[in-house]
Amino acid sequence: MADSIPQSRSRDLDKLLLRPGNLVGPTFEAGAQLRDDIKECVRVLVIGAGGLGCELLKDLAFSGFQNLEVIDMDRIEVTNLNRQFLFRLGDVGKPKAEVAAKRVMERVSGVDIKSHFCRIEDKPISFYNDFHIIVLGLDSIEARSYINSVACSFLEYDSDGNPQEESIKPMVDGGTEGFKGHARIIMPGVTPCFECTIWLFPPQVKFPLCTLAETPRTAAHCIEYAHLIKWDEAHSGKTFDPDDPEHMQWVYSEAVKRAELFGIPGVTYSLTQGVVKNIIPAIASTNAIISAAFEGLHTKVTEFVRDKDCLVCGPGVLIELEASVTLKKFIDLLEDHPKLLLTRVSVTFRGKNLYMQAPPVLEEMTRSNLDLPLFELMGKTPRDIAHVTGAAGKGDKSSHVLGNYVLFSRE
Ligand SMILES: [Zn+2]
Repeated sequence: MADSIPQSRSRDLDKLLLRPGNLVGPTFEAGAQLRDDIKECVRVLVIGAGGLGCELLKDLAFSGFQNLEVIDMDRIEVTNLNRQFLFRLGDVGKPKAEVAAKRVMERVSGVDIKSHFCRIEDKPISFYNDFHIIVLGLDSIEARSYINSVACSFLEYDSDGNPQEESIKPMVDGGTEGFKGHARIIMPGVTPCFECTIWLFPPQVKFPLCTLAETPRTAAHCIEYAHLIKWDEAHSGKTFDPDDPEHMQWVYSEAVKRAELFGIPGVTYSLTQGVVKNIIPAIASTNAIISAAFEGLHTKVTEFVRDKDCLVCGPGVLIELEASVTLKKFIDLLEDHPKLLLTRVSVTFRGKNLYMQAPPVLEEMTRSNLDLPLFELMGKTPRDIAHVTGAAGKGDKSSHVLGNYVLFSRE
């Protein structure tokens, strides 16, 4: 009886791991040993303990994975409770990661979940290298870009430009928005990375001010008119606070007046909140479906294509330098390089910080390196890889880029 519980828990994994087939590579050895090794030895990191993260932790624990860690910087709020099902009213104010880990461990025996209550950027890059799989339950493009760049930074290419298998850090990315959602697997160097297809995300909706002021056509136009134009006219200098119900009520009643003037229906208080705070509805069922989707869900699928020139998962950019070139000069070069156009550049070499933009203590500690020749900072090797992070595209798009820049220093 004691044995039958873990078996049933991993029955879906069993179907894949206990028998051979023509879908697997030549080195695949089916059997209980493989299954047990995966359950015991594979370390999975779940990033985010919100709507999707709660579902993911539960799914992974029920699938038999025994070594999980979860990282999240947020505390539990009352408005989370309708869908983040691991949390109770009494948990409000506590860190999400800690409570989520505790709840799953209480319900699923044999699983060990370590929690981290901090920002993803607070962990050293080496922290992420300790995991075999990274699963993302995030709600922002910036955070996905960051983790994607971290995972891609572990990637190494052989001299033919092929990715080295042991350096590939698989990621599973999920996301939901209302009734819609996605799940995708990213194998850096093999499949398109997050950055290869970043253009998929639509630009944020912004209404032209002239439309708001002169030709409103929708309820949202009326609300934004009250919020962006009317508020400033009526409250000289007072900042609008979206969390102040009186402010919201004022914008709502102004929007109603505006809508009546132009005969536009549909302005409600909750729509006003939605438009002003840019609220996207979160639905528990969508999270549940998406969290389980990478295991198999039959739906419309789209094939992604790798971007050969992707700065994040590609083999990097070869930059030839004189041995006398200082770190400062190198950073200037990256800012002007037509393929890169990086700003706010930080440089590391084999895990050592050569120059860091932030936090201020690290900036101060590494500042003196700026005047030293990069060749010396990189141990005087004739050809090596420096890792570079920065914002791409001169500020208008602040995605993190972490590329492998191969350096060739010559005397
Ligand atoms: Zn890429």
